[in-house]
Amino acid sequence: MEILKKRIIEDGRVVGKDILKVDSFLNHQIDVRLYNEMGKEFLELFKDEKITKILTVEASGIGIACIAAQYFDVPVVFAKKTESSNLDSDTYESQVYSFTRAKTYKIRVSKRYINKGDRLLIIDDFLANGKAVLGLMDIISQAGATLAGVGIVIEKGFQEGGKILREMGVNLKSLAVVRSFEDGRAILD
Ligand code: 5GP
Repeated sequence: MEILKKRIIEDGRVVGKDILKVDSFLNHQIDVRLYNEMGKEFLELFKDEKITKILTVEASGIGIACIAAQYFDVPVVFAKKTESSNLDSDTYESQVYSFTRAKTYKIRVSKRYINKGDRLLIIDDFLANGKAVLGLMDIISQAGATLAGVGIVIEKGFQEGGKILREMGVNLKSLAVVRSFEDGRAILD
């Protein structure tokens, strides 16, 4: 997606050897016009998949999942990372290792909101080692629902998540793929 790629090249900042910061338009300040274009693109990519719900994980996936959901005309369910008295006690749960935080956390979704007949599209902002997506896929399979696709805004192609998911046969589509970091800049496919 050319406007996204251009924005990553212009505004993305490389931190350390494997983190891309895109806080000026994706993760902190949000460019809603760009989000709308991404939502339309996700619809174009997955329009034949009979999606009934979009699934993401809090917090950074929620914005793009909601914008995309308006084009699919389906609800968004987001997995929660914190235990709360607001959450139903009957939940599907999975463990996710976050390499950006170097810790494992639990994600939970109330059993009310994913049902057997659902065809889910997972949407997230980044794909790195694939742990967040694998955790969401685990929850979908516990619910006996169907994974119809995975839509990612930025896939870091030099980490293993994309390879793992494609080898599993997952219908994975990324709007931009970062091939490498060179001299503090993102090089895109
Ligand atoms: P994974 O589970 O695929 O290893 O990592 C994906 C999750 O980690 C995403 O939900 C995202 O929040 C975070 N993440 C991974 N890599 C990056 C990165 O380079 N930049 C930012 N901003 N977040 C990242």
